[in-house]
Parts: sequence; C-alpha cells; structure tokens
Amino acid sequence: MQQQSSLVTKALLIGGEHVINHNQKFESVNPATGEVNYFLSLATASHVQAAVASAKAAANDPAWRFMLPHLRARLLSRIADGISARIEDLARLQMIENGKVWSECKAQAASAAAIFRYYASVCETLGAEITPSRGDYLSMTSYEPYGVVAAITPWNSPLTMEAQKVAPALAAGNAVILKPSEITPSTALLLGEIALEAGLPPGLLNVITGDGATTGSALVSHPDVRMVSFTGGTATGKHIARIAAERLIPVALELGGKSPHIIFDDANVDAALKSVVDGIFEGSGQSCIAGSRLFIQRGVYDQVVEALVTRAQTIKVDAPEASGAEMGPVAGFRHRSHVERLVAVAREEGGQILAGGARPSGAQYERGSYYLPTVIAGLNNRSTAVQQEIFGPVLCVLPFDDERDLVAQANDSAFGLASGIWTANYQRAWRVAQALETGLVWINTYKQLSISTPFGGFKESGIGREKGVTGVRLYQQSKGIYWSMDPANFPAPNQ
Ligand code: NAD
Repeated sequence: MQQQSSLVTKALLIGGEHVINHNQKFESVNPATGEVNYFLSLATASHVQAAVASAKAAANDPAWRFMLPHLRARLLSRIADGISARIEDLARLQMIENGKVWSECKAQAASAAAIFRYYASVCETLGAEITPSRGDYLSMTSYEPYGVVAAITPWNSPLTMEAQKVAPALAAGNAVILKPSEITPSTALLLGEIALEAGLPPGLLNVITGDGATTGSALVSHPDVRMVSFTGGTATGKHIARIAAERLIPVALELGGKSPHIIFDDANVDAALKSVVDGIFEGSGQSCIAGSRLFIQRGVYDQVVEALVTRAQTIKVDAPEASGAEMGPVAGFRHRSHVERLVAVAREEGGQILAGGARPSGAQYERGSYYLPTVIAGLNNRSTAVQQEIFGPVLCVLPFDDERDLVAQANDSAFGLASGIWTANYQRAWRVAQALETGLVWINTYKQLSISTPFGGFKESGIGREKGVTGVRLYQQSKGIYWSMDPANFPAPNQ
C-alpha cells in the first residue's frame, strides 16, 4: 500500500464548518487497486463533543423545532434535488472506497435521492391522532423528535443506509450526527455538503468520520445523544445496545443476516437461478440480505447446482468501472482475509468447493482485493460457513426433502433478516412464508425492495423497522395530551 503524504485530508462537518484534524487522520484505500485515495480526519471525543453541542442547539432552535411540515418537506426535497445533481460524484466516491461496480453505485446514489423525496412527502402528509375519548375531554397523540440522533452506518451500501436514516430523522424534526464507516466515509461528507447547499441550517446534519473505537464509542456514550440508529454487524449492535440500555435511550439496530433462499421442485428454475445468482453475487455478496444459504429440494438439486456452478464460473469479475463488470473486489484486503478464512474452515469441515474458492488469477487482479464467486456443497446447516455471516461472494448449497424439515433448517440460525421461496404452489408459499422467522420474505422474487415497505430483522438481525411511513416514527416519541372539554373547568367568561 503506497503512502502519499501529499494527498488531501478531508474535513469533518461540524455546525456547518469544515474541521480538519491534522494530527490524527486515517487513509481511504481503493480496494480495486490498493492505492490510497486520500486521508480523512479522525473525529476524537472533543470533535464529538462539538458536533453534539451544535446538533443540540440546532435541534432546540424554535425555527427548526416548530418548522411547519410542508417547509421541512421542502428542505428534504431540495436535498433530493442536490443528490440527483451529484449522482455521478456520489457514485464515484462509493466505488473507489468499497469497490462495487459502477452501475450499482449509480443506482444506489439515485435511490438515496428517492429516499429523501419519499420522506419529504411523508413529512408533509403524516398526521397525528385524536384518540377515542372516554369522557368530556379531547385526547390526542402527538409525535415529537428525540433531539439529537446518532446515525452509524456500515460500508457495504453507505449512501443508501445514510439516506435511510438521515431523511426520516430530519423529517421527524431531529438533528443528526452521522458517523459513516471508516471504510466508506466520503458519501456521508458529500451528503452533508449537499444538505447545507440545499439550505438545511448548520448543525442539523453533522458528519464525523473515524473508527468505532474512538469516534463511534464517544458518540454513542455522549449524554446528549438521545437516540441511536445503527446499521452494521451483530456484535457491534449488541455492544451499542448495552451502552444504550445503561443510558436508557432507544436504539434501532439493522444487523447481519444469513438468509435462506429456497427452491422447491415445482419452481420456475430459470427465474429462480437468476435471482439466486444476483441475490448472492451482486455487490460481491456484501449485502445483509444476501441469500447465502441455498436450500434446494432434492428433485431439482442436481439440475440447479449444475446451472449455478456454470453461471458462477462465468460471472465477469473485473475493475468496478470496467464495462460489463458484474462483480468488483470485496471491500478491502482485511475483509478478503476474513472471507478466505471462512472458506478454509468450510473445506476443513468437509465442504466441496464447486466454483471459486480462490482469488482470480491475472495481472489485472493482483493489486486489488478480488475473490471469485464461490459455491460450496456438502456442508450441513450447522457447519460454520452455513451459520456465520461471511459477507462475501460465497454461497452454500444444501439439499432438502420435505417442507417441515426445510422450515426447521431455515429457521435454525441466529439471524432472521430475509428469506426467499420459489414454488408454483401458492398455499405452500403462504404456509412457508408464515413459518419462516425472518423480517422479510420474498415469494418468487428476491431482493425486491421499496422505500415504502418497512425493513428490519427478527432475532439477531435487529430491533426496529426502518423505511416506510413508520420510518419517521422510529425517530419520534409520542406524547399523549388530554384537553378537558368540561365547561366547569374553564374560567368564567367575565374573568
Ligand atoms: P461494523 O459493525 O463493523 O461497523 C458498522 C459501523 O459501526 C461503522 O461505522 C463502525 O465504525 C461503527 N462501530 C464499530 N464499533 C463501534 C462501537 N464500539 N461504537 C460505535 N460504533 C462502532 O459493520 P461493517 O463491517 O461496517 O458492516 C457489515 C455488517 O453490517 C454486516 O454484518 C452486515 O450484515 C451489516 N448490515 C446490515 C444491514 C441491515 O439493514 N440489516 C445493512 C447493511 C449492512
């Protein structure tokens, strides 16, 4: 890895000001080339303190606190316009930091604009409630912001995750401190710039970059942070939940997954195969909803596995910006080592590598953290590679005979994020969809997503639901108001 001290150091965004930490910085590395892109300022406890103070003041400013919803919505729409105008810049930043292919980076930047547009309309149209009264009073529920919200995001889909937190949290009336992953810090910084340019008052969106141990910990522990919205690994999520429990503040946790993708004998095998391939190899498998455990009913097992292996071997692994590239590198060299370690464990536990299981060979791959699309058979559902989240382009295939056994195996996982079912039998689809312990179920499709449908996991895949109209409520606390209508309680008219 080359060191270039002449490279720029990016600033933190605190209270609308750019703050550079010249003494403590960290590098951003392009996983496709191994080159250092630039340096980032590390936000220390004192930067966190400044960001929280600025967010607290901004959240309490009556101009924001009592801003009419249609005016707040207009700001969100302007941010959406700003994102739309910078799609290529945002996509490029993501691509050089996490190595996803150009088309996916562009699609994710476009989806971030759509998320802000959606929450602009939710902000403008979402009402509160008058609740049924049991006496001579009016009772109502109103919804209020928490104040300062910490949003902590991972590296696999940085901008989408950031938009998914920042847009509803602002729509709900909060100020946000965004701490992106240290691997993908730059889309968050640009989003902060775009928000400022769109007219969002300074302090309402602060962006602090740094690692979890220094920056993330200081943020979550800060007494004026009133809510934490976290997306990332389950171990980190549990750690944050422990701190939040001690502080008695709410947390929303979107965590890991090991999603079962299921093909019954009567499925449309061609359609299923396409979804299976996209569901695990898109984004080099670095997706929380990757269908990484493939259960195939015995009658079509050989046919599906043969076609799958052929397809996996022809996926075009290339530089993310190369035309026709279907898979770029994984997001970094350390992460590739993690994938390699788990594939080695799979081998030791009796797994047969049907495709991949290695780095691609060729000069164009030597400097990047590439890994081949990998298909492993011969493991049972309790083996390490089938239970642990690999978060790479590795698919484990498992045969099954009957539905009851399939449901038991599919649910035999610490995770419960997503699942997919392929069958022609709608009664079975309904039965299995109800039996699967996952927050999302796809029937005869996979990875279909919409901002209007709540998203989140069962079991160790998380707590809370992002997205949808209720995504705004995640960032609000309700207040019950009782207002007497009893004339005896009113002052006499001449008083
Ligand atoms: P990670 O848990 O290592 O890091 C996520 C974020 O938490 C980063 O910003 C990191 O700096 C921060 N962090 C780490 N330690 C912290 C601490 N002690 N206090 C505060 N913040 C801390 O996860 P990752 O490797 O960046 O992302 C991959 C994981 O994210 C996978 O498990 C994946 O399944 C999960 N993920 C889940 C979803 C979902 O919606 N459920 C979406 C995307 C990714």
